[in-house]
Amino acid sequence: MGNGLLIVISGPSGVGKGTVCRYLLDKNKEISLSVSSTTRAPRIGEIDKVSYFFTDKEQFEKMINNEEFLEYAYVHGNYYGTPKKNVLEKVEKGQDVLLEIDIQGALQVKEFYPDGVFIFILPPTMEELKKRIVNRGTETEAAIEERFKTAYKEIEYVFKYDYAILNDEIELAVKRIESIIEAEKCKVKRQ
Ligand code: 5GP
Repeated sequence: MGNGLLIVISGPSGVGKGTVCRYLLDKNKEISLSVSSTTRAPRIGEIDKVSYFFTDKEQFEKMINNEEFLEYAYVHGNYYGTPKKNVLEKVEKGQDVLLEIDIQGALQVKEFYPDGVFIFILPPTMEELKKRIVNRGTETEAAIEERFKTAYKEIEYVFKYDYAILNDEIELAVKRIESIIEAEKCKVKRQ
């Protein structure tokens, strides 16, 4: 049996990539989600070892030094990283693994594992993206403006990815990703 697919999904803040990934995983139980480590505090409803491996800065830095991460990044004041061993073992066993990570992390994975499938989620329009960031209702006006500016810059990274998926409607977006996965599995030659 050949390797499974290592599927990397990113996109700008507010684009709805978390929802897209949840939907995709619900419909495709054979895809395994990589659980990241993070130094950020758990939010209400999040479960250790399921949502994230919650850890402290000291432990995280130890893991960096021991080269235990496939990639890691400092995002909004906290460390986030993908534990290497678990992901690579699953892929080598033929299992498909999904990583929902930020752009800095995705670019590191691309260096290390260019055979991965790199998917970028796009909003239908920038106005819609702003609306989605505002509708989260968790942030001040200044923070919203900041997130929107960052999102604008982040969108330029779409050209580093293999595929761009428009998240105009969740079901359509997931269907498009499923088609990509199907096509990747039929590929004769990987890059
Ligand atoms: P949140 O704190 O909202 O769960 O995630 C914040 C950001 O960190 C999101 O953009 C998410 O994709 C990203 N992220 C989550 N896990 C990882 C990871 O393991 N590595 C990297 N580079 N980014 C991650």
